[in-house]
Amino acid sequence: MRADLHTHTVFSDGLDTPERLVERAVAAGLDALAVTDHDTADGLPRARAAASGAGLDLIDGLELSARLEGHSVHLLMYGGDAEEPALAAELGAIRRGRDERIPAMIDRLGQLGLPLDLEEVAAFADDASSIGRPHVADALVARGYVADRSEAFARWLADDKPGFVDRYATPLVDAIALVRAAGGVAVVAHAWSRGGRHRLPERVLAELVAEHGLDGVEADHPDHLPAERAALHALAARLGVLATGSSDYHGAGKKAGYHLGACTTAPEQYARLRALVAARRDG
Ligand code: AMP
Ligand code: ZN
Ligand code: FE
Ligand code: FE
Repeated sequence: MRADLHTHTVFSDGLDTPERLVERAVAAGLDALAVTDHDTADGLPRARAAASGAGLDLIDGLELSARLEGHSVHLLMYGGDAEEPALAAELGAIRRGRDERIPAMIDRLGQLGLPLDLEEVAAFADDASSIGRPHVADALVARGYVADRSEAFARWLADDKPGFVDRYATPLVDAIALVRAAGGVAVVAHAWSRGGRHRLPERVLAELVAEHGLDGVEADHPDHLPAERAALHALAARLGVLATGSSDYHGAGKKAGYHLGACTTAPEQYARLRALVAARRDG
């Protein structure tokens, strides 16, 4: 039983269509998959159709852009109804913030001597409901300014680099409440990832569980060191919440170590998540 519970498609900044992702998941020997595009559920109907044809167990998902004390936090929603009005409105607000910051980033990059046209970036986000920095990175690569997405982030686009422009994200406590009200299961993605991201302290995670209804943490993720994974498993057990695992796959070869199935969710945790998704749906 191998479950990879955090992956992206062309509906956000992944490179595979939902059909191709499902095909690759089967080829990688996965039994279960969650498709979790950034701030949109638009790819799920196609993912569901492809998965049911392929005998792959698919969990609906998305990865919501949230914020805590000025730091970016990604919140995974499993199950639930992305069309629920309050959640749908908030996802719309986040996507508008994504759209609006792209021209500002293009201006910034122009000032830095890397001119780009909006159309060039838009072309890489052609199928996407959520545009993001990886699409800007693709345009920088196409112009020959950088070799790949990783170099684009390392030199220009990462949060502390000169081409970065911030965007709207939902306060984390509100994001958890919206996910729960939509009948979803709320799991903090890559809670302790490196690479400039904030590490949510244990005490904060404990409070999010006790007072705000957080359901779990992503423990096994390519950004986490082995000791961090173990500590997150222990913390989740202590708090009585889910500990999940995933590759955070965005497309073959784009980021070494993030291949499908690179990290997976333990069968007992997967069964627990499935039961929770069903209970919230039926309750
Ligand atoms: P945005 O959604 O516009 O804030 O861009 C952040 C997204 O860019 C993350 O969710 C990752 O999918 C992606 N990303 C972050 N760092 C890198 C990197 N070094 N190489 C490729 N993609 C990255
Ligand atoms: Zn992404
Ligand atoms: Fe993320
Ligand atoms: Fe992700």
